Amino acid sequence: MNPRSPHGELALKASPLVRSGTPAYSINLHFLNIGIKIYSTKGIRQEGMIGMRDFKAEEYFSLLKKYSDANGPSGYEDEVRELVIEDLRDVSDKLWIDSMGNVIAMKRGETDRKLMVAAHMDEIGLIVKHIDDNGFLRFSPIGGWNERILPGSRVRIRSKEGKWFRGVIGVKPPHLITPEEEKKVIEMNKLFIDVGASSKEEVLSRGIEKGSVIVLDQELEALSDYRVTGKALDDRAGLVVALKSFIETEPKDVTLYLVATVQEEVGLKGARTSAFQISPHLAIALDTTTANDVPDVEEHEAVAKLGKGPAIKVVDGRSGSGLITHPKVLEKLISVAKERNIPYQAEVLTGGTTDSSAIQLTKEGVPAGTISIPTRYIHSQVELLDLRDLHNSVELLKGFYESLTADWIDGVREKIIK
Ligand SMILES: [Zn+2]
Repeated sequence: MNPRSPHGELALKASPLVRSGTPAYSINLHFLNIGIKIYSTKGIRQEGMIGMRDFKAEEYFSLLKKYSDANGPSGYEDEVRELVIEDLRDVSDKLWIDSMGNVIAMKRGETDRKLMVAAHMDEIGLIVKHIDDNGFLRFSPIGGWNERILPGSRVRIRSKEGKWFRGVIGVKPPHLITPEEEKKVIEMNKLFIDVGASSKEEVLSRGIEKGSVIVLDQELEALSDYRVTGKALDDRAGLVVALKSFIETEPKDVTLYLVATVQEEVGLKGARTSAFQISPHLAIALDTTTANDVPDVEEHEAVAKLGKGPAIKVVDGRSGSGLITHPKVLEKLISVAKERNIPYQAEVLTGGTTDSSAIQLTKEGVPAGTISIPTRYIHSQVELLDLRDLHNSVELLKGFYESLTADWIDGVREKIIK
């Protein structure tokens, strides 16, 4: 539990989360459950699976739950930052928070060639823009939302003291909806949050005010042996992969910089400034990507599939405007996956991008790539992924670290013609 972000209010008010008939994968004795590892999983079948050496579903579930359940809307990543620092404190040669709020950890290798690995701490959020006399909150978006998922959602609102309160986004009952309204998406500016208050004064007395930030309220839960659902898997999943690989790697030739970035969802901001600071010779971002392998979507529109291994990015952004992975970096990631028998899929994404897009444009340019964790329903409270993809992403990144040499990096970066 993080003493700087008390959850006492919520813990007292939280109702029991284990209902009869619900598989008890995750028994939450305490709301947000940060740092507490009480859960059970069914027997895990590990034998005979490609690339599944050392896979422990419980370990991944526990780590991902700790990070996914934490609150970290863009600009207010404090809770996640504290967790990252705790996990990196004993394993880094150098560890600091920069002026934007990024956490940077360094592990020294034998040369000064620098690999930067970035994963973002922030999640999309909302921000209070008005509180009416009856205590209802109006809000604006922080990051890219699909407004359709909001009505009927539970949310958490941060008070100015850093306490988190629960609320719900109200919906009109079907009895009152006209046939025309039924077909329409309700715009965000027509939605409101009900925090159970009966006046503006009551809301203000909790420390909730104009400018208070909001995240979706959902705890990570397992749906089956390997598949889990929750909020902010974008990009706590990438963060878990980056952290675990960094912790388990002893660098050889190359010096490793792990950056847990801020404000990716609102313009890749933390990646941009930290890359300038570090001046990496090479960079890899860890993020989620769309797994559209669901009913009524044509196969060619799936982008990536769950359980088929990390997606090695080839291109992203609209018409290639995000990242076009450096061909040598792409080739190396694929060869590491093949050599180590790690399943992988190539990713061609036509919308959205990651921290790599900002890092590659630092100073004279940085060869960059991205490893993506296939995730369904991104930017919702029911994001869903397969823990085996998480594990295989860790294996791929570790393999990549181990295969790097200063000579290879120099060869990728420039070629003197005369
Ligand atoms: Zn995102």
